[in-house]
Amino acid sequence: MGFFNDLSKKTTEATNKITREAKLRVKMAENKNNINEIYKLIGKKVYESHVRKEKIDVEEDCKKIDKLSKEIEDARVELLTLNNKKMCTKCYAEIDKEAKFCPKCGEEQTAEKTVLEKAEETLEKTEVSKEKQNEKEIVQEELEEKNKKEE
Ligand SMILES: [Zn+2]
Repeated sequence: MGFFNDLSKKTTEATNKITREAKLRVKMAENKNNINEIYKLIGKKVYESHVRKEKIDVEEDCKKIDKLSKEIEDARVELLTLNNKKMCTKCYAEIDKEAKFCPKCGEEQTAEKTVLEKAEETLEKTEVSKEKQNEKEIVQEELEEKNKKEE
């Protein structure tokens, strides 16, 4: 029983990691598409303002891009954390999470910590909900066994 629980737990963890990774990648791609759409829109607005000789305000559009870019950045950091990697604070190369210096540019790694810690907190939160999910599954298994015995 214990062996099968461990096995299913490990499989669930691996599946969750893959699912999370896929979700992050989809999110990043979607946001990039949305940003490109907004770029087009801004271009169109700029040209229309030239034709109509009117002033334009693209502040709202730029703010949308800011938000989408931030989400892409967060997803990138979470992806790296999932794979025990981090980004060099200077050249943005993917390097080992524990690396004190970047193997590519030699930069000492310090400032990035806070961003990574944030991502790790998010990960820990998902871990907790995963555990709850597992508890639910175990309860369900027990119920199913009980039903079998009663049959
Ligand atoms: Zn570097």
